[in-house]
Amino acid sequence: MKTVSSILGCLTLTIFITINCTAQKPEETEVWEPEPEVVTPGTSAEQPPSDAIVLFDGTDLSQWVGKEGSPAAWKVENGAMTVVKGAGAIKTKQGFGSAQLHIEWRTPSEVVGESQGRGNSGIFLQDHYEVQVLDSYDNRTYSNGQAGSIYKQHMPLVNACRPPGAWQTYDIIYKAPEFDAQGNLVKPAFVTVIQNGVLVQNHVELKGPTQYIGQPKYEAHDDKLPLQLQDHGNPVSFRNIWIREL
Ligand code: MG
Repeated sequence: MKTVSSILGCLTLTIFITINCTAQKPEETEVWEPEPEVVTPGTSAEQPPSDAIVLFDGTDLSQWVGKEGSPAAWKVENGAMTVVKGAGAIKTKQGFGSAQLHIEWRTPSEVVGESQGRGNSGIFLQDHYEVQVLDSYDNRTYSNGQAGSIYKQHMPLVNACRPPGAWQTYDIIYKAPEFDAQGNLVKPAFVTVIQNGVLVQNHVELKGPTQYIGQPKYEAHDDKLPLQLQDHGNPVSFRNIWIREL
C-alpha cells in the first residue's frame, strides 16, 4: 500500500508542477532592452577592440606627460616604451574612473638586482592604487609586493610570471571608489587582475591608496584621474596599452 500511495503522491506532484509551469511563459523572463552595443574585438590578442581608447600603440608618447606636465621622457623603440631611470613616472593626459585596462610589460632580459630591485615598475590606477610590475620569476620578495600584487595590500593568487625578457600581459578590471560630497568613502575600490591569462586578483577590495610605509587610508579624490606608470629605476618596457571606460 505504501508503494501505491507514494506513486500517487508522485503523480499528484507531477501534475501540479506541469499545471504550474504552463501558467508561465518563457518570454516572461526574456530581457530585450537595452540591446548591448556592438563592439568589434581585435583580430588578434595584439589588437584593441573597436571602442578602446588607445594609450600607446608603439609609436609615440603623445597620450602621456612626465614630471609636472613636461613631455614624457621615456624611450620609444621597436614598438615599446621603456623607463628611463630618473626621468620619473609618466601619466596619461586623460583621466579615468572605472575601467578595463590592457597593458603589456617586459622586465629586462639581463637580470640585475634582486627582490624589489629587479625589474620593478608599477601601474597606478587613478594615480593612487598600484598593481605591481616586477620580475618575479625565481625572485623571492615579500608576497604582497611581487608581480600581480596590489602593492602591500593583496598578494597574487598564484605566481603567473614569464621569464625575464618575455612580454607579459595584464588585463585589469577596476571599479573606482566613491566618495560623498563631504569626502567620506561611500564605496571602496575593487580590482580584478588577469596576468598572462591567469587570474591573480579576484575582485579584491582596495584598502586605500598604495603606501610604502604604514596602513593605507582613503582620501577623497576626483572621479577621473590619470593612469600612472612608475619609474623605479629599472628599464622596464611597456606596449599595447588600451583602456575601455566602464
Ligand atoms: Mg612598483
